[in-house]
Amino acid sequence: MIRLYDTKTRTKTDLVTLEPGKVGMYVCGPTVYNYIHVGNARTFISFDNIRRYLMWRGFDVTFVQNVTDVDDKIIAKSLEEGRTAAEVAAEYTEAFIEDMRKVNVLDPDVRPKATEEIPAMLKLIQELIDSDHAYEVEGDVYFSVRSYPAYGELSGRNIDEMEGGHRELRADGKGIEDRKRDPLDFALWKAAKPGEPAWESPWGQGRPGWHIECSAMSRTYLGLPFDIHGGGGDLVFPHHENERAQSEAACGCTFANYWMHGGMLQINSEKMSKSLGNFKLLRDILKTTDPAVLRFLMLQTHYRSPLDFSEERVAEASVALCRIGNAVKNLDWLLKNAEDGPSVLDAAALSVRTEQAKEAFIQAMDDDFNTCKALGEVFELIAEANGMTAEKTLSREDADAVQGVRDLVVELMGVFGIDVAAESGACAANTYPTEVVALAADLAGYDGADAVEAMDALLNARSEARAAKDWACADAVRDGLCGLGFVIEDTPQGPRVALA
Ligand SMILES: [Zn+2]
Repeated sequence: MIRLYDTKTRTKTDLVTLEPGKVGMYVCGPTVYNYIHVGNARTFISFDNIRRYLMWRGFDVTFVQNVTDVDDKIIAKSLEEGRTAAEVAAEYTEAFIEDMRKVNVLDPDVRPKATEEIPAMLKLIQELIDSDHAYEVEGDVYFSVRSYPAYGELSGRNIDEMEGGHRELRADGKGIEDRKRDPLDFALWKAAKPGEPAWESPWGQGRPGWHIECSAMSRTYLGLPFDIHGGGGDLVFPHHENERAQSEAACGCTFANYWMHGGMLQINSEKMSKSLGNFKLLRDILKTTDPAVLRFLMLQTHYRSPLDFSEERVAEASVALCRIGNAVKNLDWLLKNAEDGPSVLDAAALSVRTEQAKEAFIQAMDDDFNTCKALGEVFELIAEANGMTAEKTLSREDADAVQGVRDLVVELMGVFGIDVAAESGACAANTYPTEVVALAADLAGYDGADAVEAMDALLNARSEARAAKDWACADAVRDGLCGLGFVIEDTPQGPRVALA
């Protein structure tokens, strides 16, 4: 049984879906006025891992993620840049999709755009007006917070202790809240201001408020109630509290059965913010960081915990991921070079251990998606397989058991959207520093610029030197690599490089 932490009940609870074997998920998407930052990326990668895991466990997942393409920030940017809000939104929607694919986040099953779903929003707002949960004032429509007694339950707030909305002045100098019946009420529909994108409505030209967009789109594509509503932890209040209030007030039913929220991301232990100058866009990070390494780094922290992002953590994640990639390559090598001969390891025990690792992985992930613990199980299996196969030539008799380990490691990392069997990628490129190239130029006459090729050239030069009993040259290669943090391990299959 999968258990997940539900924000509303503040407990870990069994995931019982509305339809056995099926999960409907809605995760709030971006407001497209800029490239997404690494904090947004963390939320989307976390929910991608959760979705992928549910799929791997056999659930038929319907994943809906909106794009908020009409919003104050988009309008502000369009005015700044002298183009239409639609142009700004189109550019950053495309950039968002591109960024998500780069980090191997699966496309949602449905990606509705707010501007294309206005009729559903108008319908929902009208229902709220008709049932006295909302009211119109001069072309604006507000949700009456006190008409929904459960308001505040999701975020754990007491309605009587809440402050009203932000004071925003109109052209005539009156505050927006002057026209609300209660300062807590929030806008469902905003009357058009000159130059803003606007749609026809029963209350005149205007545009939807942010919260109503998600309520309308989730209802259209998942129906109410649905299973899981997710998003970044910063959305619990007011966005999700408001979504829930509107949706439940209108339908008289539960909106989402489970609420899941991701933890925040910090940069070098500080909150990421434009004012601190430590704002990091995903695109910029991907210029120097392999997407698989970024995903791996995020797995190392539980999705609900704060994650500290730093260059050091990227480097550590790179090394750790490389260890898994190398282990798979190593097992592939052993399997390819297996010989006829007596068994050299306890294949039955290895197979049992492989099954146990899979079970432990599932247990960790079933417990509120504990990716960190799940990775630990993968590492333990690798360590045991390495221990059993080290310094040995594999017998064909043992091949099935070793293949089982190799395939399971690849499968489990695949659950996290990371292909550790891929030839190129994270491992070599990020682990061999560029100094290897200079060393290879020096000691092996290498004249390229590729660190992986350079490492091969160094190992070849060392082998040739040893064959020619040129110990000084062989030692120079060894010492040079040692200076860069690598050791050469001589195995029956030839020399291999490992981190010191
Ligand atoms: Zn939303």
